[in-house]
Amino acid sequence: SLTIGIVGLPNVGKSTLFNALTKNDVLAANYPFATIDPHVGVVGLPDARLDKLAELFSSQKVIPANVDFVDIAGIVRGASKGEGLGNQFLHNIRESDAICHVIRAFKDDNVVHVDGKVSPADDIETINTELILADLQTVEKVLPRLEKEARIKKDKQAQVKAVQEAQAILEDGRTLFSAGIRQGTEAAEPLHELHLLTTKPFIYVFNVDEDELTDDAFKDEQRALVAPAEAVFLNAKLEADLAELDEEDAVELLQSVGQHEPGLATLARVGFDTLGLQTYLTAGPKESRAWTIAKGATAPEAAGVIHTDFQKGFIKAEVISFEDLVETGSVAEARAKGKARMEGKDYTMQDGDVVEFRFNV
Ligand code: GDP
Repeated sequence: SLTIGIVGLPNVGKSTLFNALTKNDVLAANYPFATIDPHVGVVGLPDARLDKLAELFSSQKVIPANVDFVDIAGIVRGASKGEGLGNQFLHNIRESDAICHVIRAFKDDNVVHVDGKVSPADDIETINTELILADLQTVEKVLPRLEKEARIKKDKQAQVKAVQEAQAILEDGRTLFSAGIRQGTEAAEPLHELHLLTTKPFIYVFNVDEDELTDDAFKDEQRALVAPAEAVFLNAKLEADLAELDEEDAVELLQSVGQHEPGLATLARVGFDTLGLQTYLTAGPKESRAWTIAKGATAPEAAGVIHTDFQKGFIKAEVISFEDLVETGSVAEARAKGKARMEGKDYTMQDGDVVEFRFNV
């Protein structure tokens, strides 16, 4: 599955946030027999439609889509020069599909800032620089070999050109992503084997004081620092507290600080979107469930997320939009009113499709 790697300077609240992520009960509640990797935090994607479906179908349980976060400790100033950017760090960050940078904005004289002062802009610059330098090292290491190869193999010339272009962007102090060279797109294809870090999308998490959670002027200022990347504002300590509470108490605590959902839920939503994912829904007496697919996935691809046999033996999908299902009140009524569509293998899944697959085994 797709994962988001969490990075940030020391003492910004990464461990606190990560504890909240791992205490989150999504996995424990829905997959009681799953082995839980201590370095992976799983957050359920909030989706009110699932509760509605569970009501309609009298489902025994609700299973949301998940977003996985991986703790990637170890980035400090000078890290790319070997002071902390260990192999494990590089491996973990390369495996991530997006990078979530946690930034300290909270003020607390008892918590030392590594650079002596709280400055989100400086922290962003520091981490960006380290990632850019790490990529530059990678590029400089492979370029001489590639250039040599290209002299004999003409088909390597396009790759050399792409790597040279990447080098120029990095030397200019820019991330490849900001220059439009983005992991998973054609522009990044010639660079694929280099596993460059700055081709990944970034999400910025500002760990703010509680009163800043509702300070729109402050938040706009921080947003401007990272735009067009997404910014999420949360208080890591509050998230850790929320993760320990039952729903009723959590809602009360959230309301007391002017919030309507935990920061982790917002983070899951933003993460999901940044990764280019969407969901479709299934519903029945056993469970109402959201399944994760890439945006633009076809019906057979969506079926394959449930089971590979569903994809291989795909015949068709019966699709009812969530709105139509709620309006008609049942699958039978939706069918009677012509709201249930039979879709074939070329159908592109839409957000909010409630689906039942027909397949051969
Ligand atoms: P890490 O080094 O980035 O993993 O940071 P930690 O999660 O270990 O946090 C460093 C210190 O900051 C700890 O003493 C935390 O209790 C404290 N801390 C974390 N988040 C917050 C916060 O939102 N507000 C305040 N005041 N302290 C925090």
